[in-house]
Amino acid sequence: MTATFRSDCVLCPRLARFLSVTAHENPDYHCKPVAPFGEAAPKLLIVGLAPGMHGANRTGRPFTGDYAGILLYESLHAIGLSNAPKSVDRNDGLKLHGVLITNAVKCLPPENKPLPVEIKTCNQYLSAELVKLSSVTTILALGTVAHDAVLMASGLKRSAAKFGHGNEYELPENRRMIDSYHCSRYNTQTRRLTPEMFQVVLKRAAVLAGL
Ligand code: URA
Repeated sequence: MTATFRSDCVLCPRLARFLSVTAHENPDYHCKPVAPFGEAAPKLLIVGLAPGMHGANRTGRPFTGDYAGILLYESLHAIGLSNAPKSVDRNDGLKLHGVLITNAVKCLPPENKPLPVEIKTCNQYLSAELVKLSSVTTILALGTVAHDAVLMASGLKRSAAKFGHGNEYELPENRRMIDSYHCSRYNTQTRRLTPEMFQVVLKRAAVLAGL
């Protein structure tokens, strides 16, 4: 099933309730499903996990306003894929070149952990993005949830490809997926993912995408 992104989606009762409580406590936060951000006809699609409480859920732009986005946006800028190294808010004039960033789950999940049923329900939006974005040749999956969500959205079984940092797989429609550890605070502070490791994978993704 596919469905175009809706900022009023309430298909996951637990997430809808959580967003409503969070909106009540933080009236100046976005607190709605977060739309993809970047170019309209990208070659490279970057897929994250889900909005963070005080990041994307606050600003309304993926990976923006919390720690997880620092390395991502700095690294994109370092290889010429954006016009600025920081993503601050939706009005900061940031432009990505050839890249679109989306999430496997569009709504803020409690404790950053969407349930399997929520990942599955939300997958219709990622599927629709893959159908609509015929320009995409390469998908960079940040972490296992994103990796599995890309497989599901591409009509493949989980067993079709095992997540591993730097792993590359062919997908239907002549696309390729490359995996990276998620650029979360935990992964970067424990140095499971170093800036150098991330640069290598991002550069490879850019080469695969012809950027
Ligand atoms: N912010 C996002 O939008 N996605 C993530 O995966 C993490 C933080």
